[in-house]
Amino acid sequence: MDCIFCKIIEGSLPSRKVFENERIVAFHDIKPEAPVHILVIPKKHIPTMNDVTDGDNELIAELFSVAREIAKEQGIAESGYRLVNNCNSEGGQIVYHLHLHILGGKRLGPIA
Ligand code: 5GP
Repeated sequence: MDCIFCKIIEGSLPSRKVFENERIVAFHDIKPEAPVHILVIPKKHIPTMNDVTDGDNELIAELFSVAREIAKEQGIAESGYRLVNNCNSEGGQIVYHLHLHILGGKRLGPIA
């Protein structure tokens, strides 16, 4: 298996986890771009947003729900934060395992 995030899920690669259940894991980004930078990922290996199917609708809804709760726990819900999904090369995707970035803790600049 060649996916960094699958290795984090199985525990063979260390990470600073902030959440885990049967379907989802969230952990601190190794190279944070903001005071709070957490990645929320499904345990199911879905390479990109393009590979999400209608059968994943509940999982995607849960991904957002987990992100919302983490933002609250991290104390950035009221001040504000950004959820980002990068898709494919021009979208800036580097790791091909679906993930949401939670970015916050500072005033964020314009997108793109
Ligand atoms: P992408 O550009 O694919 O949307 O974002 C991938 C993110 O994963 C980047 O922000 C990068 O810093 C983060 N990342 C890459 N490798 C690792 C790793 O081994 N551990 C953690 N915690 N984050 C990683």
